This record gives sequence, structure tokens and C-alpha cells, in this order.
Amino acid sequence: MTTKFIFITGGVVSSLGKGVAAASVGLILESRGLNVTLMKLDPYVNVDPGTMSPYQHGEVYVTDDGTETDLDLGHYERFTHTTTSKLHNLTTGKIYESVINKERRGDYLGNTVQVIPHITDEIKERMRLLAKGHDVVIVEIGGTVGDIESLPFLEAIRQFRHELGRFNAVDIHLTLVPYIAAAEELKTKPTQHSVRDMRAIGISPDILLCRVDRPLPDELRAKIALFCNVDADQVVAARDVDTIYEVPVQLCREGLDEKLLDLLHLPRSVANDTMDRWMDLVNRVKNPKRHVRIGIVGKYVSLADAYKSLNEALIHGGIANEAKVELVYISAEDIEGGNWPPSLLEVDGIVVPIGFGKRGSEGKIRAIHYARERKVPCFGICWGMQLMVVEFARHVCGISQAASTEFIEDTPDPVIYKLRDLLGVDALGGTMRLGSYPCRLKEGSKARQIYGQPEIAERHRHRYEVNQKYLPVLEEHGLKVVGTSPDGKFIEMVELSDHPWFLGSQFHPEYKSRPTDPHPLFVSFIEAALAEQDRRQSQPERAEERASIPIPEVVA
Ligand code: GLN
Repeated sequence: MTTKFIFITGGVVSSLGKGVAAASVGLILESRGLNVTLMKLDPYVNVDPGTMSPYQHGEVYVTDDGTETDLDLGHYERFTHTTTSKLHNLTTGKIYESVINKERRGDYLGNTVQVIPHITDEIKERMRLLAKGHDVVIVEIGGTVGDIESLPFLEAIRQFRHELGRFNAVDIHLTLVPYIAAAEELKTKPTQHSVRDMRAIGISPDILLCRVDRPLPDELRAKIALFCNVDADQVVAARDVDTIYEVPVQLCREGLDEKLLDLLHLPRSVANDTMDRWMDLVNRVKNPKRHVRIGIVGKYVSLADAYKSLNEALIHGGIANEAKVELVYISAEDIEGGNWPPSLLEVDGIVVPIGFGKRGSEGKIRAIHYARERKVPCFGICWGMQLMVVEFARHVCGISQAASTEFIEDTPDPVIYKLRDLLGVDALGGTMRLGSYPCRLKEGSKARQIYGQPEIAERHRHRYEVNQKYLPVLEEHGLKVVGTSPDGKFIEMVELSDHPWFLGSQFHPEYKSRPTDPHPLFVSFIEAALAEQDRRQSQPERAEERASIPIPEVVA
């Protein structure tokens, strides 16, 4: 069978949820027995998002093969069976890097190297690479039509659609149909303009996926169809929903699966049980039995997208425990003043997540101190684990100046220091320890019991590591190393046994959690947070105990 391509383009404004829409289209096609994969084309000039601030870009999603990619790839993996890799995320930077390398090698002989055909050929070549072994490739194009920087990508798609021929390619254009309160009306004009822009560059969208906050009346569908050169049944409403996991269910209700099969001349194959399982999941998300509050002590807390996979993994842990997870963002810097922030005293569990640099490090260390001393479930992820080690060294082992060389370069006690393998490497792009590596878990440890297996593989993204010189003193005081790389070179997990749940991982388990297959560490952590909630409710003195703890000194 010829591989079919579905392009997802965006119109009107950004942040309409193209990534979730693409992932949802992937899922509903999998529910028809098709083998689907997805890729994202990002128009920015960075080679990858690895060097970008989380404030600008949101989370950097890491694949098994160690590529730093766009967070939409996380949606693709959470919604569908696809496992992404370096082939699944392209940027303008990556395309130009490759074309310029070819030019330097002399591959273009005497030719003038130009956007058309050389850049567009390169983009088409990369899309073709994914066709093998897949019935459908879904290609999401970042940005909004009208952006100058996305033009080469859209031009490549125009050419590619032509080469693929009829019935082999579909463009789904995601737009906004806003409700104007003063007129008490939904307005179609922005969609008309957006489609006009698309047609001006030679792509006539086949499906218009319209974000609306209320039902889209038939007359409006007819009006959009008339102005935008599609049939009314190709205008699909994407109404606001309570959880992103409801989007595929809603698109199925709108019949988008069958519309796509028809447009692509694919048989209307019988649906498998994928959507039933997904509907069951949505029901569980919408009807929780309990409510649990998890504090995320971070430094990028004003942008929830900065912790996208973590947020989702926590929600998945909640689903497994029939609990709604309320995410309470606590700025690490707010813990550097004289008082504990009230929110920290009230959460049922604390996560200290990914982070880089110095800002916020002392606040995170204090949050860990609080959780350790007051026996509140605490999960340290990557930087969080490293700071668990620093906190333990300072306040339990008495190494008062202990630090990471990442934030105190000349510390006398570098319990965390730069990866030995990276000494002398100063370039920042793509140089961290990245991607999936095996980890061996210690018999009898909590980590081993939670995973239920002796060896695991998880994804990494770090430049610093635990300095093994300090292991004897850390272990002597009770911090257990429970996960290492099989050769013992890297410390991967630590835990405390005289604590209900205090566990740190050098890797990022959140990248591999799926709503239908929640990650065991998050399931166990949420279970422990629910137990802490029970404790607070059944023991009146617990709240008092949690509030009364002196704030430790900050090490400058
Ligand atoms: N900044 C730390 C390091 O580079 C932690 C990175 C992270 O949290 N992913 O090792």
C-alpha cells in the first residue's frame, strides 16, 4: 500500500493545540488498524530546542535515541504507539545544516544552492524517510500560516502533495472560530482569511478543524464551506474539552476517522477496541474518587508547558489511583526568603523536577529538606535528585558546604560535579548525556519493588553527576544508592528507607509514561501522596508538625 500523508497546518493564532490534534488524529487512525507515525517540522533556526530557554520553548522532550525535540513529540508518544527519534523532528536549522554540509562537500557540483529546490528537496527527503513501514505519516507544521519562516516548509508540502498524487495526501487546517460577546456571534472571518492565505501558497486545505467554545451550527459550517472551498462535512468542530485525552473521542464523534479514510481512499476498516479503551480512560479522568495535591518546586513555574511530560505523568499516576491530581506550582525562589510558602505546607507530595544553573537551587534544596525532615513524599528528578544528594550531604552528613559545581564552581565539597566524560567539552548544543540508558536496580530496594524488574531503561538529559568519592559517607548516613548503570559508572537512583517515599532518579521517567500505561514510579508516588493525605486527615497533630520546622541556612 502507498503510504498516505496527512499534513496538519495552523491558522489564525498559535496555541490552538496542533500537537494534541495531530496526536489525536494518529490515535483515531490507529483505532482503524492503521500503522501510523508522526513528525513535527519546526520553522525556527535552532538546530534543536536543546539550547532554548524553557520560557521560550516549553519542555524539551528527549527521545530514546537521545534527540532533544519539541514537546509535541511527547503528545505523539502518549497518544499513539509511535516511538519517536531524530527522524521525527526537523527544524530549519537542521535542514540548513545538512544542505550547507552537502554544499561544502561539493555534492551540488557547480550549482547555485537555493531554497527551491535544494532546501525544499531536503525537507521532502526527510518526510519520505518516515514512509517506510507506515500506512500513514502525519506531519505537523509548527507556527501559523502567514509566518515568513514557515514558507519553505509549506512550499515543500505543496510540491510533495503534487508528487504524491490524488488520494494520497490530506491537509488538515486547524483554525479558530471565536465567539464575539458583544455581537453574541461566532465569527468565521479569521478562518476564511487563513484558508485564503493557504490557497495563496498553493495548498487548499481538505479538512478545516475549527476550535470553538460552543456548538458550531450547521449554517456556520455551510458558510465556512462556501468560502473555503470544501464540503460542509469537511468542516469539523473541535470544541473545548475538559481534558486533552477527550480530544480523540470528540473527533471520532465528529466522524473525522471516516472522513479521512474516504479522502485517502482507504477502506473503512472495522474499528478495533482502541477508542473504547480511550473512552474508559476519559471516564476515569472525569470521575475521580479522590483529589490529591502535588507541589512542583520549580524555576520555570510561570509556564506550565515547561514541565509538560511531568504534569502528564503525574496525571497518569492519578488515573491509576482514581485520583484527580491538582498541580501546585511553587517557585523555588519563593522558598529562599524567611518563611515556608503556605502552599508547601499543604501539599500531599513534592516533586523537585528538571532544572539548570544556579537560580532557584537553594530554594529547591530547602524544599527537599522540608520533605525529608517532615516525611512528606518527595520525588527528585534529575536536578531534583542531584539536589537531594546535596541536601543530604549538608544536613545529615554534616558536609556544610556541599554543592554542585553547576552552581558553586569552586565549592570545597563537589558532591555533584560535571560528567567525567564531558570534561573539556564547552559547547552546549547536544552535548549532554542524552537518551535511553540501562539501569540496574538493587535487590530489596523500593525502586526495585516499584519497577518489579531488576533492569530498566530510561531517558536521560544531564551534564552533571554524583561524585562517587562521597558515596561511602552518604551511604553510611542512610542515603541508599539503589540504581546504577550496569558498569557502575553512573549513579542513577537514590532513596531513603526511613521515609514513606523519598526517591531520586538521575533520569526522566516522565518521558515514558502514557495515560493507558502509567509509569510505575508515578503510580507509586501518587499512592504515597494519598497516604500522606490520609495521615493529615486522621492525625490532627500532623498539620502542626508539618508547619513547625526551622528553615535551613542558604549556602551562598
Ligand atoms: N542541571 C543538571 C545537569 O545538567 C540537571 C539537568 C536536568 O534536570 N535534566 O546535570
